[in-house]
Formats: sequence, structure tokens, C-alpha cells
Amino acid sequence: MKTLVRYGYVPFMLLAINGAGIAIAASGGSKLWLLALLLLAIAASFTAERVLPYREDWNTPHDDDRRDAVHAAVNETLTLGSVAALPVLTAVASIDGVWPHDWPFILQVLVAVLVADLGITLVHLASHKVPALWRLHAVHHSVKRAYGFNGLMKHPLHQTLETAAGVAPLVLLGLPTSVAYALALCVAVQLLLQHSNVDYRVGRLRVVLALNQAHRFHHLKWAGIGDVNFGLFTLIWDHLLRTYSYDPERRFSSDDLGMAAKPHYPNGYLAQLAEPFRPSGACAADEPQPETMSEQAHPASR
Ligand SMILES: [Zn+2]
Repeated sequence: MKTLVRYGYVPFMLLAINGAGIAIAASGGSKLWLLALLLLAIAASFTAERVLPYREDWNTPHDDDRRDAVHAAVNETLTLGSVAALPVLTAVASIDGVWPHDWPFILQVLVAVLVADLGITLVHLASHKVPALWRLHAVHHSVKRAYGFNGLMKHPLHQTLETAAGVAPLVLLGLPTSVAYALALCVAVQLLLQHSNVDYRVGRLRVVLALNQAHRFHHLKWAGIGDVNFGLFTLIWDHLLRTYSYDPERRFSSDDLGMAAKPHYPNGYLAQLAEPFRPSGACAADEPQPETMSEQAHPASR
């Protein structure tokens, strides 16, 4: 069973769940089926984490399970709302005749994924460099454990900014609503995989796909050291921007995650919504750095 999860979990999520979602969206099926697939993906994420955890203690709630459920419910509702509003946006802002409507549906989804990947990755990178954006993004970096469900945990305003950057070019290109629904499911599945506490393996694909092995480096708590591997779907842009980092020997614990400068970040949902707008939500003037080499990623792997 562990072997099945180690090598089968990612193909199940990327090929079976996303594949079924793409088929439903292509056939114009009920959106409730897409919601059912999302719930199935979340259930699969929790199950796989119990069969083959990267860390046992990351399966135990850190006073975060109910809060993360609220984050996920709010953020997914926002996503569905923005897809529902898409026809209005494309009606006024798209350039006619650009979108490849005659391509196979799955290729249209792939185009949407790659375009969205660029916009979301760039806003993510900017969120680590621009103080006003970091205030919003810090909510997501306050996590003390990495598990699938906290991929959906972020400030709704920050999610809106990321979505806008990812989808705006697609709106100009005339993104069909059916493709947008498939894209929304792919994003949610990717966030589950990227933060997963499953000790899965994808071989050399880990160099290209933005999955959990690379993403854990992004959650290292020290300023600068965690500014790597920004990609959502792929690490293509990290390779080009020279922000890719990986060290196969590195192991992670809760002591490595979060924000060294903000060890007492608010934990409750409403407190997290308010924190970016409080004086304490600003960047720290003095960012702590790791005390030993073993605490940080090996610089040579940068
Ligand atoms: Zn980040």
C-alpha cells in the first residue's frame, strides 16, 4: 500500500482527478461534479498522508485544522465566483479570434495552466519582495507544518491578486468558461500536492514540476533562504529566474517552517485576515538568520 501511494498518488491526482475534471468540463457537465472531484481530491490527500507521511507529527493538528477549513471554504468559494463572472469579463476585455477553440480541449487546458503559471509565479515572487504584498502573503507563510490542506490556506485578498495575475492574460486571449472551470480544479489539486505531507516520489520530474519536495524549501522560515521555488505548476520560471533550489539530503521539521521574524503570528482566521493591516503585519526591520549551516539549505544547491 505504501509503495502504491509513493508512486501512484501524484499520477492519481494529476491524471485521474484532473483528467476527470477536464472531461466533465469539456462535456459541459454539472459543476457539482467538479465540486465532488475537489472533495475527493481532499479526501485522497488526507488518506495518503496517513498511509505514507513525510512526517508523522505533521498529520496532527497544530491548532490549525478548523482555521484551514475556513480558509479553504472561503477561497474556493471565491474561485468559483470568479469563474462564474468570467463570461462578463471576456465579453468586454477579450481580443476576438485569439483563443484556439479548435484545439483539443485538453490542450486548451494545458495552455491555460502554463499561462496562469507564469502570472501566479511572478506575483508570488513579487509578494516576497514588495513589503505591501508580503503583508498579505505572510498569512500563508505562518504555517508550522506542511500538509495538503494548508495549500488552500491564504489571505483571500492575496489569492485574488494571484488569480488576477494568472487569469488576466487568459481573459485577454478569450479564455472559455469551461476551460476556466477545469483550470480552477487543476489549481486546487496542485496546491494539495505542493504542500502534501505524503512522502511521494516523481523521479526527475521533481526538477520541472512544482511539487512538495521542492516547495518545502520555499517554506524555510529565514528571509532570503525561503525566497526560492516560487512556481505553482512548474519550476520553469524558477530555473530561468535562478530562484530554483534543491538539496536531496535536506530534511524538514516544524522548527524550519513559518517565519523566523514573526514566530508569534496570529493563529485564528479573523486575526489572520486583519494582521496585514496592523502595524505588526509589516516586514521586520531585523530579519533573523539561521545560526548553523545545518539549519539552512546548502548554498551550493542554489
Ligand atoms: Zn511564498
